[in-house]
Formats: sequence, C-alpha cells, structure tokens
Amino acid sequence: MFSYFETKKRLNMLNYTNFKFCPNCGRETLSILEQNAMVCNSCGLKYFHNTAAAVGGIITTPKGIVLAERACEPSKGMLDIPGGFANYNESLENALRRELFEELHIQITRFRYIASFPNEYTYAGVTYFTIDSMFLVEWDPMFTLTPSDEIARIQFADIKNIDFDKLAFSSTRKLFAYIIENGIIR
Ligand SMILES: [Zn+2]
Repeated sequence: MFSYFETKKRLNMLNYTNFKFCPNCGRETLSILEQNAMVCNSCGLKYFHNTAAAVGGIITTPKGIVLAERACEPSKGMLDIPGGFANYNESLENALRRELFEELHIQITRFRYIASFPNEYTYAGVTYFTIDSMFLVEWDPMFTLTPSDEIARIQFADIKNIDFDKLAFSSTRKLFAYIIENGIIR
C-alpha cells in the first residue's frame, strides 16, 4: 500500500553520488541540505540531485511481449524492456518514440500510458533515482525488430511466465506485477 512516509526515509545524495568537492569553488565543504540536495558551506552553492525521468515500452506481439537482454552495464545479461532516459526539452511520449527507434528501429504510433514506478540506476559509480513512466505499445505487423548494440538479443515472453529474478530493474518487476494484477495484458 502507498505510504507517503516511505518516500521520506533518510537518504543522503552525497552517499549516492560520492561527491566530495564543490563543483563551483573546489573546497571540501559539502553538506546535505535535503535527501536530494547538497549545499557548499564555503560558497553557498546549492545543487539538487533530482529524480530523473525515464520511459519504458511493453510491446505486445503475437509471440508475447518483447524483452531485451542488456548488452551493457548496469545489469549486463539481465532482461529489460526497451526504453531509457528522457532528454532535455523532450516529452515522455517523444522519449518513448526515440528510444524504441534507437533500440529496435521501429517507428511506433499507437501506445498508451500504464503507470509509473520508481527505480535506482547505478552507472559509473553514481546512483540516479529515476521515475520510469511505462507505456503499452501496440504491435504493428509492419514492425521488424532490429536490435541496436545496447541489446544482446531479443526474447518474446508470456507475461504470466516471466522469471522475475532475471529482470534487471525493480521498476520492471513492479510493472509486470501491476499488469498481471490488473489484467492489462491477457
Ligand atoms: Zn563551493
């Protein structure tokens, strides 16, 4: 069940970024301001390690939903759905269109929002807190899935038979549980 206080648990962005020195004045005088914000006690810089927006697309095909085996870290070899971070000045819808084109070379037109799930994504020693907005993408028989270098291979899976231990991210596990619970894909 949803708990407001769950989101308030004691987090410290300096532990997740490993920042030691102020990027403005270079002094080692950073301290935590809020869970996602730091302040430099020398020059007064305030910096927010804000939640990052990301998207994911569940493509429903006659063979099942599309799962991508990750070819890169983090979670190399684990399964994921296609998607990624929203760029600056980009809508979630356009981020989804762009990511699915970049990763699978398909141009999607019909999709709808399902729900969003938080995730933690660690890359090169920095942990990003993301909010992953998930979309259901309608299959078009004209699609030819051509994976990019980021994907080792494509698998098709029955939503009811997915091995949750092989999923790369907790947001995808929560999404699949939500889909099953609400009968979104049958
Ligand atoms: Zn400073």
